[in-house]
Amino acid sequence: MDITKIVLKSGKDQSLLRFHPWVFSGAIKKIYGKVADGDIVKVYDNKDNFLGIGHYQIGSIAVRILSFNDEEINQEFWQKSIAKAIELRKNLGFFDNANNNVFRLIHAEGDMLPGLIVDYYNGNVVMQLHSVGMYKSINIITDTIKNLLDDKITSIYNKSNKTLPHKAKIDIENGYLYGKLKNNVVTEYGYKFKIDWVDGQKTGFFIDQRENRKLIEQYSKNKNVLNVFGYTGGFSVYALGGGANLVHSVDSSASAIDITNQNVELNFGKTDKHQAFAVDAFEFLKDINNKYDVIILDPPAFAKHHNVLHKALQGYKKINTRAFEQIKSGGILFTFSCSQVVSKDNFRNAVFTAAAISKRKVRILHQLHQPVDHPVNIYHPESEYLKGLVLYVE
Ligand code: SAH
Repeated sequence: MDITKIVLKSGKDQSLLRFHPWVFSGAIKKIYGKVADGDIVKVYDNKDNFLGIGHYQIGSIAVRILSFNDEEINQEFWQKSIAKAIELRKNLGFFDNANNNVFRLIHAEGDMLPGLIVDYYNGNVVMQLHSVGMYKSINIITDTIKNLLDDKITSIYNKSNKTLPHKAKIDIENGYLYGKLKNNVVTEYGYKFKIDWVDGQKTGFFIDQRENRKLIEQYSKNKNVLNVFGYTGGFSVYALGGGANLVHSVDSSASAIDITNQNVELNFGKTDKHQAFAVDAFEFLKDINNKYDVIILDPPAFAKHHNVLHKALQGYKKINTRAFEQIKSGGILFTFSCSQVVSKDNFRNAVFTAAAISKRKVRILHQLHQPVDHPVNIYHPESEYLKGLVLYVE
């Protein structure tokens, strides 16, 4: 079958020449022939020079480039591309670390596979597809992962019914594509976490905060720690492990609080040092006075689209102001943004404004980001989405 050809408007080839993998719909001059959501298309400049081959999708990002070489997207392509992602994790030591068996195996654009997220949970692989093209390739992706990882995996679970574009109207059910659940307890830096990829958020765990959770250990000894937007209680477990005097976890989701309590018990048994609250963070933060030495703010992506950026920045400003105003003198604030549309500068400005409103003296101790298993494609700055600051509040 002939592959549909897409020609770009003059000058609109620049970002592809710089290996950025997205073609916006406004850049397209002409589509030759029929094209459906998820089809493989070839992209050319308006002088008929080949630029790239990728997945077509109706929407603002019209093509996600899979290769800048004029090659076929066939079994060999998937084999080679997925093997490269796995190889990187192997080289980084992720496959033989008894202390850690949870990591991201494929990080979409960060691994040159736009639309494909794959996480590894102690032998269970959880796959999340974000584009119709990846959805159409689900079988070959599953087989390739199975073949390449062979004895290292017990199951592959597809969790894509909320991540595919609504417009595509794909009726997909979550479920196991291979094997079945054997064990859903993972180890991260020696701590145990129960992962619920079936009902939990995202693929079940926010793996991207691993190194930042580790850092909280060294700031927790004998401290009162507040973990806001705690989800499964990752930061709380590390704070307790670091010798905190008291840890409070806050999340609006009752099921997240339930898992948090289970995770604390899994690591420390019954302990009165930890308490979890299923309440709204904005409410909780209204009245914490100077109870806490360490506060973690790790909200969900307040902005998923550029048109709500302003509102998102207001959200960051509000929660950070409340934390600055009330944290103990000499306190440490860990504050994050995981929103791709909020730039590092935007985020820093929101936090800076919050500090100024509180009139506290604030120094930056660490600037945090996502870990090595969430690599940033140098040509796709948007893959760097997680930003964090550790601040000393005088
Ligand atoms: N820090 C976590 C990840 C946080 S994800 C970790 O290390 O794993 C963001 C969390 O914020 C989600 O669990 C979500 O349920 C929670 N959340 C969203 N809106 C909230 C609100 N208004 N108040 C409290 N929690 C909220």
